[in-house]
Amino acid sequence: MNTQLLPAAPPSIALAARLLAGGQLVAFPTETVYGLGANALDRDAVLSIFAAKGRPADNPLIVHIHDRGQLDGICEVNDAARRLMDAFWPGPLTLILPRKEAVPYEVTAHLETVAVRMPSHPVAISLLKACGLPIAAPSANRSGKPSPTSAQHVLDDMDGRIPLILDGGACDVGLESTVLSLCGDVPCILRPGGITQSMLEAVIGKVEVAGSVLRPLHKGEKALSPGMMYKHYSPDGQVTLIEGEEADVVEALRRLHAHATAEGHRTCVMCFTEHVDALADCHPHDIGRQDDASDVAHRLFATLRDLDDEKMDVIFSEVVPPEGVGLAVMNRLGRAAAFRTVRAEEVLCGR
Ligand code: AMP
Ligand code: MG
Repeated sequence: MNTQLLPAAPPSIALAARLLAGGQLVAFPTETVYGLGANALDRDAVLSIFAAKGRPADNPLIVHIHDRGQLDGICEVNDAARRLMDAFWPGPLTLILPRKEAVPYEVTAHLETVAVRMPSHPVAISLLKACGLPIAAPSANRSGKPSPTSAQHVLDDMDGRIPLILDGGACDVGLESTVLSLCGDVPCILRPGGITQSMLEAVIGKVEVAGSVLRPLHKGEKALSPGMMYKHYSPDGQVTLIEGEEADVVEALRRLHAHATAEGHRTCVMCFTEHVDALADCHPHDIGRQDDASDVAHRLFATLRDLDDEKMDVIFSEVVPPEGVGLAVMNRLGRAAAFRTVRAEEVLCGR
């Protein structure tokens, strides 16, 4: 299949809408990451998303809408959901709600719940309006790769697998949406994102964060969100996270880089903008400003993709405090590192 990459504009958006209505796949920008869309009510179209991504069939999809009226046929909306929609839609918040019958089980991976979101990106909204359909869309990467934050990332993963990619430039947030379940006794964040726990609590009161957000699942533990079962966001190289006091971390990165390089590994560090100069000899990748987790979120996936392009096999990274948007960053970075973490002072006293 020939994959067209077209700048998002009225004619290409109209073409995308026709392709979606005809059961085909289209990749499009959202404010979080690029999505790979299909008509959510067409089983075959939905199945072709799983085929194109190589996604396990038991990992459910998010249904995207542009008008709340579309939810009538999709899910049961409760009072908390309405208040959150008032506060955060359109925007990077996905709600898990009880599913209605019209939604195929292919979308929900046989769950009785469905994930719904109204994106704010103007191209996503134009496309949703033009086709008038609820669109099931996971991130437009091959399964196991970092989510795409540019049209080129999508092309790298999906060339020859889908007919059209709409190019709307780099994504604003850079991490996937916050996923909040409203189906249990207490609302629960299954995946942290740009809409933080405290922002949600300001609207609906107590919100929990799923325990497995900052650790691997325990053996036999059931994933609240099936996506958490899978190895995600992993570069091909081995990532290790370095924690500790700022000066110790910089010195530990330098020593670890030198040691791994001496052993013959292609080695680099992921560090804050403020430390790039101090680590100039360590093949630094700038992950953003130290005091700005949103900046790190914005750059993280592109950096992880660069590491693969450069065939790095050993990577050491700084970390951000797991608070606010930092929780979303550490959820992704932790998984990229398989939660392998070292204290800087142990590196310094051990050498
Ligand atoms: P993606 O769109 O690829 O970023 O993945 C969507 C995320 O939403 C995955 O982590 C899914 O496991 C999660 N998800 C989608 N539907 C549900 C659902 N009904 N219940 C729990 N998690 C869901
Ligand atoms: Mg994804």
